[in-house]
Amino acid sequence: MIDHRHFDGNTLVIASHNKGKVREIGELLEPFGVKTISAGDLDLPEPVEDGDSFIANAEIKAIAAAKAANLPALSDDSGLEVVALNGEPGIFSARWGGPEKDFTLAMHKVNEAMGNNENRTANFTCALTLAWPDGHMESFEGKVFGSITWPMRGNKGFGYDPFFIPDGYDMTFAEMEPAKKHAMSHRADAFKQLIDACFKN
Ligand code: IMP
Repeated sequence: MIDHRHFDGNTLVIASHNKGKVREIGELLEPFGVKTISAGDLDLPEPVEDGDSFIANAEIKAIAAAKAANLPALSDDSGLEVVALNGEPGIFSARWGGPEKDFTLAMHKVNEAMGNNENRTANFTCALTLAWPDGHMESFEGKVFGSITWPMRGNKGFGYDPFFIPDGYDMTFAEMEPAKKHAMSHRADAFKQLIDACFKN
């Protein structure tokens, strides 16, 4: 069994300036008595995410926040990988939305790039890194597999949810109740691993 470092403090920095992400992570950690504070609230600088994988980018964000705040910090890096596009948009998922972060545009771009390719397989990936000010890091990666449908359907969720159907379902993530998505998502998968390794006694 791998020996993971346990989180035993009472305050954790969420290494994100995205309010939605900060809220979601705070809610997930509440049952463990963890008080969260965001990198935005602490006015921490945003590091350049120039890693070549989800985990590399999650580690860049977590370690920068942990060192700047002198507290343990947790980061999330996530995105959509399409098999017919050799894994793109991947770590560039946010950038495909352009400066306006327009994901309707991003989904059009993905659909056009896929053309008539019969392979519609895709997955979302989420990397989570828990970092300490001394440089120690624990990283976990979660995935959810499914396929790309067109046209887009549904208005719940965010990002690329309206054209992603998880395997075993006929609804897109954007048509599902959030609780249902959150029970099966890439983020839920990564969180389960993080909680089991670093938060449970
Ligand atoms: P990040 O904030 O740099 O990690 O960018 C992640 C991007 O991936 C987001 O802007 C979304 O477009 C996309 N993404 C990540 N998770 C999800 C999800 O659960 N549903 C839809 N899109 C997601």
